[in-house]
Amino acid sequence: MAFDVAAVSAWLKDFATQCHDNAELLTDLDREIGDADHGTNMDRGMRAVAALDPDSFPTAADYLKKAGMTLVSTVGGASGPLYGTFFLRVGTAWPAVVDAPSLGLALRAGLDGIVQRGKANLQDKTLVDALSPALDAFDAHAGDGVAVALAAAAAACADGRDATIPLIAHKGRASYLGERSIGHQDPGATSMTMLIEAASRTLD
Ligand code: ADP
Ligand code: MG
Repeated sequence: MAFDVAAVSAWLKDFATQCHDNAELLTDLDREIGDADHGTNMDRGMRAVAALDPDSFPTAADYLKKAGMTLVSTVGGASGPLYGTFFLRVGTAWPAVVDAPSLGLALRAGLDGIVQRGKANLQDKTLVDALSPALDAFDAHAGDGVAVALAAAAAACADGRDATIPLIAHKGRASYLGERSIGHQDPGATSMTMLIEAASRTLD
């Protein structure tokens, strides 16, 4: 099990590919309850991250932090600062990552950063509704190793994403719609599930 620059780079590049291949889906979801830019936002930001040369970073922590700063500077929407903060915080905690429990702590530092920045509560119909149950599932399976914990996290993330459909949005642009946001899957919860699924494919 490696948590080095090569492993993290495989994770972020896999996510960049998902954002590119599913840009239309993410933008279509955002068209229904937002301003139709989530796919282009994530594709632009993660393309810039994927263009970073992993070999130019001495540690995985440096690489993750640079990825976060790159997202903040290349994505104008809400998702840029939120995903940027996630990677900055995960990167800051990354030197301590040596096993499943410590990986869980690093990912949770990322969630805490998102919540501090965006102030979303559970059930507000945001990416927090996917990431939070994902990390709870990760922690519940951390004793079984990284591969099992990440697989459980990815499944719980997808469930959390699907569970955003009946919710009323209380944060971000979708909140302007009030009850009309009911019946639509949250775009950010959808991209977040791609991020955790990418981790499950690459970080084991
Ligand atoms: P914008 O809303 O600025 O157009 P995007 O369309 O790229 O940005 O991203 C929208 C997504 O960002 C939403 O689907 C939601 O998951 C997430 N989001 C928006 N505001 C918040 C917030 N305050 N906290 C957490 N996530 C949020
Ligand atoms: Mg948008």
